[in-house]
Amino acid sequence: MDYISARSKKIDASGIRKIWELAQKMKDPVDFSIGSPDFDAPAEVKQAAIDAISGGSNGYTLTAGIAALREKIASDITAEFGWEKPLAMVTCGVSGALHLAFMATLNPGDEVLVPDPYFVMYHHLTNLSGGTCVYVDTYPDFHLSAEKVAEKITSKTKMLVLNSPGNPTGAIYTEQQLKDLADLARKHELLVISDEIYKEFSYDRASGSIASYYENTIVMRGMSKAYGIPGWRMGYMALPNHLEELFERMAALQQYTFVCAPQPFQLATIKALDHDCSDQVDIYRKKRDLVYEGLKGEFDLVKPEGAFYAFVPTPNDDATEFVTRAIANDVLVIPGKVFSSRDTHFRISYATSEEKIKVGCERLCKIAREY
Ligand code: PLP
Repeated sequence: MDYISARSKKIDASGIRKIWELAQKMKDPVDFSIGSPDFDAPAEVKQAAIDAISGGSNGYTLTAGIAALREKIASDITAEFGWEKPLAMVTCGVSGALHLAFMATLNPGDEVLVPDPYFVMYHHLTNLSGGTCVYVDTYPDFHLSAEKVAEKITSKTKMLVLNSPGNPTGAIYTEQQLKDLADLARKHELLVISDEIYKEFSYDRASGSIASYYENTIVMRGMSKAYGIPGWRMGYMALPNHLEELFERMAALQQYTFVCAPQPFQLATIKALDHDCSDQVDIYRKKRDLVYEGLKGEFDLVKPEGAFYAFVPTPNDDATEFVTRAIANDVLVIPGKVFSSRDTHFRISYATSEEKIKVGCERLCKIAREY
């Protein structure tokens, strides 16, 4: 008897697991692999969670989240996009929001447009839902033009996934690109998922949202990255009021999966949303500059504009081979094929100390010179 469902076999975690296994043999690695901030949560945010737990706020909440937090999210979204009475749902991270949205919208055969390189979860959630990922190549600068997307639209296309600032590329789409994508989405009545989890990490200009130009958008934002609390599993999504039926479907799915986001952390998130992250962003801008300056002599990389990743072309167009050499030199990076149909680049997460960044970049440059 095979206890494993065909559905779950569609998820292939072997690429990342292989890197992880190699990492176990490393002595004092420069770890450029983890997509998790290297700073702790702000003191007042931690205190709000402690107070909530001590004060007995430890039960379930309503499926969509506590009213005070949902109202705050909704009023911020109205102020930003002009949406009247938007629908806000508190979720277990952006991962939770993505899960609900993909499950609630996709039928077998539906096509999902995903810019390549992409955050791996989009690929797996589409597969789990029975949909088909259609990739839109964004090499070499990782920006997304409406023309490229238009070429991939068929009668089966239902959804367009945007992630700006992006993982693994650090690219931020321009306002003009967002407007053009909005026009295209409107023409084809696409549902847009806008994953804005790295919104705060925008180094040279504010990062815009397609939601400013197109209403059939689910805006997803999270607390994991900007507030240093990935273990709290806090995120949210906001939808325009006319997508109420979809909202109700997603709420029903949340009721029978995650149930609700953790109550003490929902309460602390109210505090977090008022916290100014600009000091952390300044520190990360400096890290971004260190990575770019440290690598540009040997690698032909695009300067990342946001998030905390650089997606760097290898000198030999074979990222798996390059990454094996990097790991042999105690630098942990991820080969491009984990995030892409190509294996020509590697991902650096620079959410680590400046010292490690300098050492890691020197080692990578030394390897590049050996080719
Ligand atoms: N979206 C992107 C682009 C990410 O990089 C991540 C995490 O790395 C997530 C969503 C999920 O974040 P979380 O579930 O912690 O909110």
